[in-house]
Amino acid sequence: MATGNINVSVENIFPLIKKFLYSDHEIFLRELISNATDATLKLKHLTSIGESKSEYGNPVIEVSVDKEAKQIRIKDQGLGMTSEEVEKYINQVAFSGAEEFLDKYKDSAKDSGIIGHFGLGFYSAFMVAEKVEIITKSHTGAPAAHWVCDGSPTFSLEASDKEDRGTEIILHVSEDELGFLEETKISELLVKYNKFMPVPIKFGTKTETLEKPEGAKEEDAAPTQEVDNIINNPTPAWTKQPADLEDNDYKEFYKELYPMQFEDPLFNIHLNVDYPFNLTGILYFPKLDPNVGIQKDKIQLYQNQVYVTDNVEGIVPEFLMMLRGVIDSPDIPLNVSRSYLQADGAVKKISSYITRKVADKMNSLFKNNRADFEAKWDDIKIVIEYGMLSEDKFFDKAKNFALLPTVDGAYHTFEELKTKVEASQTDKDGKLVVLYASDKDAQHSYIQSAKDKGYEVLLLNSPIVSHLIQKLEATYENTTFVRVDGDHVDNLIKKDDATVSKLSDEEKEALKTTIEAVVPKETYTVQVEAMDSQASPFIITQPEFMRRMKEMQQSGGGGMGMFGNFPESYNLVVNSNHSFVDKINSETNEEAKSGLIKQALDLAKLSQNLLKGEDLTNFVKRSFETI
Ligand code: ADP
Ligand code: MG
Repeated sequence: MATGNINVSVENIFPLIKKFLYSDHEIFLRELISNATDATLKLKHLTSIGESKSEYGNPVIEVSVDKEAKQIRIKDQGLGMTSEEVEKYINQVAFSGAEEFLDKYKDSAKDSGIIGHFGLGFYSAFMVAEKVEIITKSHTGAPAAHWVCDGSPTFSLEASDKEDRGTEIILHVSEDELGFLEETKISELLVKYNKFMPVPIKFGTKTETLEKPEGAKEEDAAPTQEVDNIINNPTPAWTKQPADLEDNDYKEFYKELYPMQFEDPLFNIHLNVDYPFNLTGILYFPKLDPNVGIQKDKIQLYQNQVYVTDNVEGIVPEFLMMLRGVIDSPDIPLNVSRSYLQADGAVKKISSYITRKVADKMNSLFKNNRADFEAKWDDIKIVIEYGMLSEDKFFDKAKNFALLPTVDGAYHTFEELKTKVEASQTDKDGKLVVLYASDKDAQHSYIQSAKDKGYEVLLLNSPIVSHLIQKLEATYENTTFVRVDGDHVDNLIKKDDATVSKLSDEEKEALKTTIEAVVPKETYTVQVEAMDSQASPFIITQPEFMRRMKEMQQSGGGGMGMFGNFPESYNLVVNSNHSFVDKINSETNEEAKSGLIKQALDLAKLSQNLLKGEDLTNFVKRSFETI
């Protein structure tokens, strides 16, 4: 029996591993199963190139827990180690055998999916175990070896009578980590980290119901049998070629990833590159549940099918964090700070690749299945609009498929809209005027009157719309967006057949003075206009500029703070052609006259949803008195 000291540096590394290297003790299982997987894939490679005489067979990794003996065992049927190899790969800590293997078989093994590269993974076992044993037999047929170490730098290595090829790791779980002996805990960890690893992993058995034998009676119970409980799917959808997958396979995989999710995803995007970086994965646009709010951190990051994290900040662009799915890339450096990560060249390339793929996918859906794209627009617009605001490259592509819905449920791209309205909706300077509403109910009367005049009214109701409009106006010169209840439409859009005024200019001026005397002048700017006699007598509008500044201030537009809070300020547009104006003018009792004006102002406020609190109560009271 050999005894000795593990490489000197270990003395320093051990406490480091225990305390700092991995703050998450649970990852020991991921590391040991990764090693078992590597050992299996290495053997697969060696047998495939004729360098091993061993029969590969159908190797399985078996995890078991013995609560009484306080042991966790991980057993593989991989290539095993000779005692020399144990000396080399285990005793010389920080000497990664995976790295050496990949070096040696550089060309043939680069796609073998081998995971290890730190050379410290194995020692993470000591985070939960006070003693670790390795019993291993090499595929070469060399005598089996038995290594034992109690966490001090002292180990023992002796011969073992193990006959079958492969390695068994026995963890003697330490007193303060006994929670890991719970089957439910191990199950949970296996599902979290190992659900999609490439070699089948067995944990216990399960009961399977078989077909009833022929001639069995109705009341006879179906026979059952105990079978291996394989916890993983070794060939998850993202490892396959897109050409080999049907739409339904993507949906099934989504369910596999999110078993609690009942809604199908809207779209999927299959990522697949190997140059200049390696990345595979599938991203999904989820159907967002408006009651749950926006959920981030649903994208899972894997490396060679081993789960790493669901924090993909810095790897996936911010606006795509609402998506779901899987990204698998061995090229993302781990155990580094996020800021380092964001500065990493490969990671930057990955992030812009993902952005481009999402834009291209949207574009092809828009082109090939417009109806479906329109039907899903409401669910995806948040992501697209946010992306257009935050990434210029995305904007350049997305402006061609981003949709502007109308209040009547038609969808136009900006260019389509422009073609449609450029003849009828321009202002005095020839600028295109795009009318929009943000709330169909609250702005109903304004929408109606704009539609009556034959104008197209968009429905733009996402929370970041004022920022998006700003961006669109900056991109498309000679275009201005105006909300239907903004600057009065008749003043804005040039009409050839101007309405004839019933009142002279002097009479209009006098009317203005009369009204100004009654309404609060710090809030309302009175404008007397000769409009269609059917239009309301009093209409309140809010200058587009003013309202937009306010909205941007509220949603954190930045830079607006120096102006302080914007005062409430509205236009009161009075239709001098309306018969109600005649009524005001012919009223001789001053008190009754101002009563009429107040009532009309309140009605206008009511239709703009501005009449609240005491004013509303008084209005209702006054109205009852008059009827
Ligand atoms: P890494 O996996 O990064 O190489 P580890 O500390 O996890 O580093 O493992 C060190 C080395 O020990 C491996 O590279 C491998 O050569 C060897 N090893 C560990 N576990 C096994 C196993 N189950 N079967 C065969 N060799 C193993
Ligand atoms: Mg390892």
